[in-house]
Amino acid sequence: MTRSASPVTGRVFNFSAGPTVLPEPVLHKAKQELLDWQGIGASVAEISHRSADFIALAAQAEADLRALLQVPDDYAVLFMQGGATLQQALIALNLAAPGARADYLITGHWGKTALQQAAPYVDAHIVASGEAQGFCDVPAREDWQLSADAAYLHVTDNETIHGVELNLPLDVEVPVVADFSSSIASRPIRIRDYGLIYAGAQKNLGPSGISVVIAARALLERSGQKRAPILDYRAHLARESMLNTPPTFNWYLLALCLAWMREQGGVAAFGARNAARAQKLYAAIDGSQGFYRNRVATAHRSRMNVPFFLPTAELDAQFVAQAEARGLIGLKGHKVVGGIRASLYNALPDAAVDALVDFMQEFRHRHV
Ligand code: PMP
Repeated sequence: MTRSASPVTGRVFNFSAGPTVLPEPVLHKAKQELLDWQGIGASVAEISHRSADFIALAAQAEADLRALLQVPDDYAVLFMQGGATLQQALIALNLAAPGARADYLITGHWGKTALQQAAPYVDAHIVASGEAQGFCDVPAREDWQLSADAAYLHVTDNETIHGVELNLPLDVEVPVVADFSSSIASRPIRIRDYGLIYAGAQKNLGPSGISVVIAARALLERSGQKRAPILDYRAHLARESMLNTPPTFNWYLLALCLAWMREQGGVAAFGARNAARAQKLYAAIDGSQGFYRNRVATAHRSRMNVPFFLPTAELDAQFVAQAEARGLIGLKGHKVVGGIRASLYNALPDAAVDALVDFMQEFRHRHV
């Protein structure tokens, strides 16, 4: 089926969960600089990561990330490869002694993968899980069974597949380790509420192939478990995230995205915009007289990933195909839950959400 894209830009509206849409000005700049970056006569992908030009880029990216998220000086920032999944294993190896107790709150699919990646190294304990309720709610805080001696508590700030946002004060004694893969820089947060946060860049921050870790320096001093330097946060920190050859082009795109986010007003501006856009989409779902349904408890509905269902799986499929023909792509739900999922990350233009809401209304009128 042919997709109809904007006649002006040739671009569609991309609701993919990640990798996903990048800011258009970033793509233009990258295109313009591809053959000759900063007058050096080569692209950023063709020069040494040890060159002064690249080191300056890396330093600027860190400065921009620190400014965006107001990262305190006693927190380290790392840029790493291996995705969020690698972090899920490194957390256990670096922050817990062999077989030590580590607590996990499970609010969706990614909490489960975090637990799986850590399980070979720690005594992973499930504090509470929303699985029996189909991950439609966050288990009540008073029902969590926290361990007194846990090395850390792992939580997922936003469950990308189930569309569940934690959205509650954690108020625990042990360091909180949080997966922010699909919500980093989408709203202001208080870094000091966390011991360590991590995220793959491919949703709110830029391209895949690079992840960010923000961690209290004191936490990174823990001896953890026997591990090779490549698996050791301390080694990455000592070498300023260049222990081995980093993904330079991804880092460059990430740097362009961070600069763009600052120009756009930073996380406060994105937070307000993202809340308004999510509100608009949930209102369209809730106002559809049951044609569209989202099952997540209102207080924990994600502002980033909005899963919803039509009356039948056949209608779900028709919706996705017809939306795509209109230039609204990436709406097919994840195979774990099915249905539709609209991801509303920072780089998605507001007009995309308006176009989706219009299409939902029109589709419903044709089918009721
Ligand atoms: N955690 C969350 C919340 C995610 O959304 C994802 C990817 N969709 C992951 C972890 C896994 O990330 P990666 O593919 O970068 O390893």
